[in-house]
Amino acid sequence: RAKGDGGGLHCAYEPQLHAVAEERRQIELALREALEKNQLHVLYQPVVDADQGAVVGFEALVRWTHPEMGPISPAKFVLVAEEARLIAPIGEWVLRTACMEAANWPGHVRIAVNVSAEQLGHPSFVTAVVSALAQSGLEAGRLELEVTESVFMNDDAGALKVLDQLLALGIHLSLDDFGTGYSSLGYLSRTRFNTIKIDRSFVVGASKGTAESLAIIRAVVTLAESLGMATTAEGVETQAELDMVRRLGCKKVQGYYFGRPMLPQDAVRLFPPPLQRATG
Ligand code: C2E
Ligand code: MG
Ligand code: MG
Ligand code: MG
Repeated sequence: RAKGDGGGLHCAYEPQLHAVAEERRQIELALREALEKNQLHVLYQPVVDADQGAVVGFEALVRWTHPEMGPISPAKFVLVAEEARLIAPIGEWVLRTACMEAANWPGHVRIAVNVSAEQLGHPSFVTAVVSALAQSGLEAGRLELEVTESVFMNDDAGALKVLDQLLALGIHLSLDDFGTGYSSLGYLSRTRFNTIKIDRSFVVGASKGTAESLAIIRAVVTLAESLGMATTAEGVETQAELDMVRRLGCKKVQGYYFGRPMLPQDAVRLFPPPLQRATG
């Protein structure tokens, strides 16, 4: 796709298109450099049990601060990385970093890592996961991989096969941003996702009293339960939103109300004191 950027497109929008392509190219170059110079880092956002309020896991979220351009949102650079075939090395770096970090945490705390469709489709993906586990010493059952519905878009047979391999290793799978893509309930019957993550847009909608959002959350929770899957409500920012998603039966919650994505040294402070931890 990158090759089309300079193509002979002559229309009124060309200057704007050119600017977009130019920005993209700049980000791509800078991203390659960032990867080489180790300028990426990972923040960790707590995932909390909706009933107990205990931290049951963290989601690893990649961050990039460019020396001149400043912080660049992953929503932006992950897309560029996917198109520039940089997502596999970046994703593997995040995976290794997050597994190393989580290996120091109490045994019941899981680490969730986002995996983009491009990355999942990469032939060496499963090998990379196995080696990240081996290198860090993290048990497979403590690793959760988050994919979105988009993994099923291009090669759903291939994606289902990789997801099955991951499940066979004992890794947990989450379906992220559920309801925002081209959902097909068929995928839910073919892959045993452990958790469905309900997108923040529905949480916001429901807390504003939108009947449709409320109905969707309710339906997803019922669906998940009957399939033996848990649900996580994403982007819970207020006590009112927490009360609502809890009432609707969401098992886990995540959002600014509990904690923003944080540095690893701040993440470990959220664990119970050592005496309360199981030994061994
Ligand atoms: P996601 O996986 O759905 O992650 C949740 C996003 O929601 C994160 O944005 C998080 O900071 C944000 N968030 C969490 N709680 C709240 C809240 O209460 N309110 C609001 N407004 N937002 C909240 P972030 O870190 O900017 O990441 C955006 C997306 O970029 C992620 O969405 C994920 O799709 C992607 N991403 C992030 N890190 C990685 C990575 O290492 N690999 C890949 N492939 N994608 C990543
Ligand atoms: Mg996620
Ligand atoms: Mg999400
Ligand atoms: Mg999202």
